[in-house]
Amino acid sequence: MSQRLVLAGAGHAHAQVLQAWRDAPLPGTELVVVSPHALAPYSGMVPGWLAGTYRFNDIVIDFPALCRAAGARWIPSAIDRLDPDRQCVHLENGEALAYDRLSLNIGSTLIPPQGEFTAKVLSMRPLSQLRGDYEQLLDQWRADSHDGPFRVTAIGGGAAGFESLLAVLRRLRQLRPDRRVHGALRARSAELLPGYPAAARRQAWQALQSAEADVQLGASWSDAVGRNSDLVLWATGAQAHAWQRTSARRGGLAVSADGFVLIDDSLRSVSHPNIFAAGDCAHWRAPLPKAGVYAVRMGPVLAHNLHAASAGLALQTYAPQKNFLSLLATADGRAIASRGALSLSGRWAWRLKDRIDRGFVRRFAPSSDHLISVQGETP
Ligand SMILES: Cc1cc2nc3c(=O)[nH]c(=O)nc-3n(C[C@H](O)[C@H](O)[C@H](O)COP(=O)(O)OP(=O)(O)OC[C@H]3O[C@@H](n4cnc5c(N)ncnc54)[C@H](O)[C@@H]3O)c2cc1C
Repeated sequence: MSQRLVLAGAGHAHAQVLQAWRDAPLPGTELVVVSPHALAPYSGMVPGWLAGTYRFNDIVIDFPALCRAAGARWIPSAIDRLDPDRQCVHLENGEALAYDRLSLNIGSTLIPPQGEFTAKVLSMRPLSQLRGDYEQLLDQWRADSHDGPFRVTAIGGGAAGFESLLAVLRRLRQLRPDRRVHGALRARSAELLPGYPAAARRQAWQALQSAEADVQLGASWSDAVGRNSDLVLWATGAQAHAWQRTSARRGGLAVSADGFVLIDDSLRSVSHPNIFAAGDCAHWRAPLPKAGVYAVRMGPVLAHNLHAASAGLALQTYAPQKNFLSLLATADGRAIASRGALSLSGRWAWRLKDRIDRGFVRRFAPSSDHLISVQGETP
């Protein structure tokens, strides 16, 4: 092998790169994929999993199986540090992995609060960690002998805070109909779902009212909120991973003020032309919302450009979609559908969302000869 391409992160764009590689591998190039977890949740289905509508295994993409189909090497680890000038990623397992080209699709994280309060805090990112934390919470909830009221507060007024609050309320109430569960949403922003059309925001208010959740806008987090809640769902704005935010761990890689990798129109690092980045971890020339729809649409352009860069061909330009259909699950068998200034809600919108999301995950379902058994992560 004369060249090595490293894909870091089992994100939505890399799933598509692997599929494109399976169909048209580049001769003479070794493909290596590094990510800490084998099963990567599809973000659009996470609220449905929190609500108990889907099993975890219904919402995940099996990356080792995709790697086998594409003839790629799978390394279950994570980037700890990057040395872009020496073209080397240092992994958490101690391995130093040299590359000719590197592609980053490692998502984003959240830094939940620590302080003097008693509430359990569930951070909505990274999704991989959410699984264990949520399953542990549900086990405790089932076994808990208390019958007093339980208070759940979501922090964050965007789609993640809204959807996760409704989903968790539904799940807890369904499992313990004997216990009263209070819901509250608290956001620093002056409005619920900033960036969504007014009609969608009205429908979201109605959904929160139907779920008997109080909404407080223009309200910041304080330890007092943690003392007055039993469970906090932390769903504030996405943050870059620690290694991206630390200059000693990212080398000379150009990043935005908050640590997101600066990329150009062809999804290429503005400082290192042999590094590409897509999805939440990247900062395109104008900041894009941290939403899975962008990572998904970047996928085909990234797949083409990684191939073209290795083969010395022209790169494609990524143009973010101006209008797209957004579907927010309200955990009551309905969803809110909006596009541009239009918004409608109903059971049909949930059925549409379910069909689209299941279809996306099914695209990456392994054929039986590529299925592998990953301990603790098999269906
Ligand atoms: C509750 C919730 C609901 C959401 N609902 C929606 C929705 O309905 N629609 C929507 O568009 N967006 C939604 N989002 C946003 C969405 O989750 C993200 O924008 C999306 O997942 C980003 O995709 P990505 O491909 O960039 O990264 P991800 O899908 O997050 O994948 C990143 C991958 O990189 C891996 N990784 C992390 N660190 C490292 C490292 N150091 N080295 C190697 N690998 C690493 C991770 O384990 C993971 O596999 C939601 C978010 C939340 C929290």
